[in-house]
Amino acid sequence: MTRILVVEDEPGIALGLEDDLRLEGYDVELAGDGNAASRLARTGSFDLILLDVMLPGKDGFEVCRELRRAGLKTPILMLTAKAREAEKVLGLELGADDYVTKPFGTRELRARIKALLRRAAEGPQSAVFHFGDLEVDFARGEVRRDGQAIELTPIEFRLLDTFVRARGRVLSREQLIDAAWGPDTFTSARIVDNHIASLRRKLGDDAADPHYLKNVRGLGYRFDG
Ligand code: CA
Repeated sequence: MTRILVVEDEPGIALGLEDDLRLEGYDVELAGDGNAASRLARTGSFDLILLDVMLPGKDGFEVCRELRRAGLKTPILMLTAKAREAEKVLGLELGADDYVTKPFGTRELRARIKALLRRAAEGPQSAVFHFGDLEVDFARGEVRRDGQAIELTPIEFRLLDTFVRARGRVLSREQLIDAAWGPDTFTSARIVDNHIASLRRKLGDDAADPHYLKNVRGLGYRFDG
């Protein structure tokens, strides 16, 4: 049975999550503060950790950092406040695998949990990702076609890297700005679009009917590779 550790101090939310995840067939354990979370998670007996940021004692960031430093590989899904864009980025930098913003819908949460569990089952992200006749070499920060490097700007590479890691998921322009430019950068949606257009050209993707970098109207972009 798939075991999920739910770390959340607000009883209403914690119990709601517990009920919902049990209905989905998961085995759920609750932790109400950072210290308990850290202790339970280290037993290594969970397949996924749902980690709230605002917690008594240690906050979610600290727990996340500690667990990664201790070498724990369990996927971590952070629950962040919608108003705090910077939290998402910090969480990911500290080793969280994904985040959902509060308030979240149960459907969204279930989908994220499934995606993370699937990814974990597939094993670690390999150093090279292949799609079409292209390959992204994360270690060397390079994209190649038939062994020939394609010149990407650092922003374009970071965009592609973000897309590949979140493949199949829609990313808003804000998320892309956070990931490629940095959380406190002022970058307009238009600039994001321009960089994506340029990235598409370099990848040989057709702007009129893109195969990889798809525009999702009103939401952002999705990478299908
Ligand atoms: Ca909380």
